[in-house]
Amino acid sequence: MDLKEHIRGIPDFPKPGILFYDISTLLRNADAWQVAMGRLAHAVAPAQPDLLAGVESRGFLMAAPLASKLGCGFLMLRKPGKLPGRTVSVDYELEYGQDSLHIQADAIRPGQRVVVVDDLLATGGTLAAAIQLLQKVGANVTGAAVIIEILSLKGREKLGVPTSALVSYE
Ligand code: 5GP
Repeated sequence: MDLKEHIRGIPDFPKPGILFYDISTLLRNADAWQVAMGRLAHAVAPAQPDLLAGVESRGFLMAAPLASKLGCGFLMLRKPGKLPGRTVSVDYELEYGQDSLHIQADAIRPGQRVVVVDDLLATGGTLAAAIQLLQKVGANVTGAAVIIEILSLKGREKLGVPTSALVSYE
């Protein structure tokens, strides 16, 4: 199955000039979503994760079911002010401005193997921050996985861990 048939590019979202790859159409097609999850599981399994870390919010949509499929735990990397208890954070640059990701300080036992999951890899800023944050709390980050990679932005070069993508666009 060609998963690209279930992903649409929406021009001028969220701003003029940006082509946004929308995975809503993939999520709502039961067969295509099953195939996507199966392929992601196949891609992530060799990294032998103890935990999958999902990046808020679309990363949660794949990381949680995938963790259940692989028999490992799931944890959330969230935007500020969402997680209870003591948290650790990392700031990162967006195209315009800054954002930060947070993790619960006790989310990971030192050395646990973690694979980070998001829907799309563009510049790599988000996943690089996620990896940095996980390492800050003692994780052994053994991989990253996305559904979509934008090749021309060379985001994977920022990550420093084996990275899998199900489909790619120039
Ligand atoms: P990066 O930090 O790699 O430049 O951007 C990736 C982040 O932005 C991901 O968290 C992803 O959810 C979001 N993102 C950027 N562009 C798109 C897009 O075209 N489609 C989707 N679904 N997410 C995007």
